[in-house]
Amino acid sequence: MEFFGHVIDGAEVASAGGETFASVDPYTREPWAEVALGGPAEVDLAVAAARRAFDEGPWPRMGRAERGRLLHRLADLILANADRLGLADTRDMGKPITQSRGNDVPRAADNFRFFADHARLTPAEALPMDSGHHAYTRYEPVGVAAAVAPWNFPLMLETWKIAPALAWGNTVVLKPAEDTPASATILARLALEAGLPPGVLNVVHGYGPDSAGQALTEHPGVDRITFTGESATGRVISAAAARNLVPVSLELGGKGGNAVFADADLDNAVSWSLRAIFTNAGQVCLAGSRLYVQRPVFEEFLARFTAAAGAMRLGDPKLDSTEIGPLASETHYRKVRGYVESVADEGGAVHAGGLGDGWFVRPTIVTGLPATARHQREEIFGPVVTVTPFDTEDEVVALMNGTRYGLNAMLFTESLSRAHRVSARLRAGTVWVNCFFIRDLRAPFGGAGDSGVGREGGTFSREFFTEPKAVVMQID
Ligand code: NAD
Repeated sequence: MEFFGHVIDGAEVASAGGETFASVDPYTREPWAEVALGGPAEVDLAVAAARRAFDEGPWPRMGRAERGRLLHRLADLILANADRLGLADTRDMGKPITQSRGNDVPRAADNFRFFADHARLTPAEALPMDSGHHAYTRYEPVGVAAAVAPWNFPLMLETWKIAPALAWGNTVVLKPAEDTPASATILARLALEAGLPPGVLNVVHGYGPDSAGQALTEHPGVDRITFTGESATGRVISAAAARNLVPVSLELGGKGGNAVFADADLDNAVSWSLRAIFTNAGQVCLAGSRLYVQRPVFEEFLARFTAAAGAMRLGDPKLDSTEIGPLASETHYRKVRGYVESVADEGGAVHAGGLGDGWFVRPTIVTGLPATARHQREEIFGPVVTVTPFDTEDEVVALMNGTRYGLNAMLFTESLSRAHRVSARLRAGTVWVNCFFIRDLRAPFGGAGDSGVGREGGTFSREFFTEPKAVVMQID
């Protein structure tokens, strides 16, 4: 079995006591890798290394152009190792290789390229004052950033946090999700190969509560916490950050509403709605898991959507032909299975799909559920979509806004006025009109309510990972 260690202060290491855990391949349901299991001791070492690299090392003092050059070299190495990185995420969590290698790896490289270039464009203001002074601003790195990541887009989301932190001169300690450790260690190895100094990017593996995750987010040596994961975990981490007065960015769960109006281009709406819920077996914070279809086209849409979902290919995620892999772990499979099995209890019906073999759940379409059903309010995080008819714009806006989440929403209409009007009324960090999942890394990304606190992306990441300073000077 392959071994994946922590990466601390420029070296890949085992835990002090030699503890390990296994990463299980959800397709074979067998362990495929052995991983160092860290805790407070490893976190202490990693935070100390990151602190030294920040206080004494070249990284924060290096010019932005030089840092950018190293981050671009890391991006080159990520692309050169696309097969290895893609396979690592696929074996760890069952994501089809076409998505891990084809989508997540290039996006990881792009995260480094984008923030390396963005940091070089950091502006500063000069503020002439009437009093015979002038002030100017500086955006300085903050120190050690702690990044805690989920398992659904391992490499892509880890680099979404690490890249801006590094680009603005901070050092990082990453705690990857315990279900997806491999790509993080490979990434840290590549960072050293690219020439990042020791201690700039550290990785500590382990669990969340009472383990490496908790130790890192409670550590007094950390200056920023960036977290992506469940809303319940976000609350715990937010409390830990508050005790240390550390700014925290929280990207949490979602329950995306998706409205298809009668005037929509139905081919387009079916195609995007399908991807919105079944990509990555629905294990997507942005998943369009609540589908609302205006009554005149409800039956036609449902028929086309059901046919397209039924044609999706389940199978070995290592094969290019596979569109849906197994769910990421047994624990997660059991959770999603519980939702599928309780549809009738809540008054609905499984219109298509249902449970598959092993840890597979087929693309599952549920109808007839009231808005109060658990399935319409809670994040299922699997390939399960509720489909509900609606009559009016007001009604669908109320339904879409009717959960505690506010991450994203989608709407399909050919009416320009309606597109603008409804977008403005939706409580969501991102609204997609006639599309889904399209991202510009300059745009704010994040959510309202239980979906998170703060925004990441472009200047929003700069605000989080830098400390603005005003320098006031007397002229005469
Ligand atoms: P999770 O909250 O269970 O775990 C996320 C990470 O937090 C893991 O690394 C875990 O070890 C760690 N952790 C858990 N408890 C901790 C604690 N008490 N202290 C410190 N660290 C702790 O989430 P998950 O199941 O890995 O990921 C799925 C969730 O992530 C879903 O809710 C999904 O919507 C959300 N998500 C959100 C976004 C977004 O951008 N908003 C993106 C992807 C996933």
